[in-house]
Amino acid sequence: MIELNEITKIYMRGAEELHILNGISLVVARGDFIAIVGPSGSGKSTMMNMIGLLDIPTSGSYSLDGVATEKMSDNQLATLRNQKIGFIFQQFNLLPRLNALENVELPMIYGGIARKERREKAHSMLEKLGMGERGHHKPSELSGGQQQRVAIARALAISPALLLADEPTGALDSKTGAEVLELMIDLNEQGNTIVLITHDSHIAECAKRVITLRDGSIISDHQVSRMIRGYEVTV
Ligand code: ATP
Ligand code: MG
Repeated sequence: MIELNEITKIYMRGAEELHILNGISLVVARGDFIAIVGPSGSGKSTMMNMIGLLDIPTSGSYSLDGVATEKMSDNQLATLRNQKIGFIFQQFNLLPRLNALENVELPMIYGGIARKERREKAHSMLEKLGMGERGHHKPSELSGGQQQRVAIARALAISPALLLADEPTGALDSKTGAEVLELMIDLNEQGNTIVLITHDSHIAECAKRVITLRDGSIISDHQVSRMIRGYEVTV
């Protein structure tokens, strides 16, 4: 599903090279649920931007769902991203002028899906997330947890091969955050492949596999036992 091979990312600050990712290699199988943890500044979001085709590495190769991305143009990358990846962010990133239904429809517009089908799909996604009654509400009329549900519905609207979440519970209170995490566990059990970024190691234990970054390198990679998995969100 994801194959990163010796990915590096170097930013320039004046004449100085900032080595942000130092040769990341990682294989993620379809159906997996991985968490990426590590201290602030360790390169988690930079790595997610690479996986999400929002940014390109300085060197190394990346295949997504068997498609090599290195030689693709910006347009080709955008098309692949729109087809394959759903994003969930800490600040939800909903468009304030659009209601919940219209927000969920957005990626389907990029995907060229006809209006009627879009609306039906958006309805059913919101219903699936317990937001069926809120379709006509604007983001400002929804709580944080409800907004994140709309954002998750939007991410799932195109049935992405991969769901990427960068601190999805970071702006939520702990109870609502736990609900969103439960939701992600459910989605994984239904077959969605998930990469979750968090600086909270308790949240990470809800995943099946935890990868720790430090200073742009993977310093550990372990499977989470079923006994531990989900424990923190169910208490
Ligand atoms: P946090 O937990 O705070 O979100 P993170 O692990 O996600 O941190 P990144 O956002 O990936 O960290 O940033 C890693 C390092 O790369 C930081 O030192 C950051 O300042 C630097 N960095 C990120 N983007 C750029 C950029 N466009 N130009 C220069 N440096 C950058
Ligand atoms: Mg980050």
